Amino acid sequence: MGQANAHYYATRDPLGIAGDFTTAPEVSQMFGEMVGAALADCWHRAGRPDNPPYVELGPGRGTLAADALHVMARAGLQPDVHFVETSPVLSELQRQKHPHAQWHQSLATIPPGGPLLLVANEFFDALPIHQWIGDEERRVMLDGDAFAFTANGSIREESPERAAVAQEIASQIASRGGVALIVDYGHPRSAPGETLQAVRGHRFAEVLVNPGEQDLTAHVDFEALAAATEGTGIAIDGPVEQGRWLDALGIGQRAAALGKAVPQRAGEIMAARARLCDSAALGSLFKVMAIRHRDWPAPAGFAS
Ligand code: SAH
Repeated sequence: MGQANAHYYATRDPLGIAGDFTTAPEVSQMFGEMVGAALADCWHRAGRPDNPPYVELGPGRGTLAADALHVMARAGLQPDVHFVETSPVLSELQRQKHPHAQWHQSLATIPPGGPLLLVANEFFDALPIHQWIGDEERRVMLDGDAFAFTANGSIREESPERAAVAQEIASQIASRGGVALIVDYGHPRSAPGETLQAVRGHRFAEVLVNPGEQDLTAHVDFEALAAATEGTGIAIDGPVEQGRWLDALGIGQRAAALGKAVPQRAGEIMAARARLCDSAALGSLFKVMAIRHRDWPAPAGFAS
């Protein structure tokens, strides 16, 4: 899964109508704007500490960062920009929008400094998982000239790769302060079941065919991510449903204001809000979880 996705992302821009899938920031500028507003608000309430870098994991086309940084600038915050991205194709697209950003292969090389303002949207779902059937790890083998699974049965998934990234975010935040917003599709509690899926051309595909030519993802187990931060002394907020979170941050008011400013696009703007927020669309499957320093306030949108 890791190697197939590394090839997949290294060789194309998978996003948008002409690609394989469309992410929230590609649906509407309002998504990145709400993320930027949440980070700027949290930074203000934390006492406006000096030099907080904006760090994004897997920034895609750089769209979320552009929309978030725009709102943050209006709130008096112009952070240095650091992108963790392994795809040369997507790094180049990001460079066109963010010529002054700095690129990293992992979080380990983010320079020391102020508290982190970190975002990861649809990043964790792309990191590899392992599947277990009882005590046996389910593997992929060659059956003739096709790939096949070594076993079938009742499946449990886990991801040491995802846990390691969550742990690294938490330990950096514990030592330098800040907040991370993790947005992805998945479940708030660990549960057995298979969620590995392949997507190509906006349709589900067979997971073992065309390795490296289709997007492989699995649902994010938010309880496992939170558990991976244990012992670092940070605080966790959520996960909450993306739709509720965006509503609490004021996406409805933003949609109304944009619609008023550009009446000929009002219908399209309201449809984008509905796609991001409605339970039948992306609003419930997607969740938002925050990892923050204990001395930082909870970001907006997590009140119970
Ligand atoms: N966040 C963007 C893109 C999501 S697609 C959006 O919401 O539109 C997943 C992103 O993670 C891509 O930018 C991909 O190149 C990157 N990525 C995937 N695996 C990665 C890894 N192991 N390390 C760093 N980046 C990775």
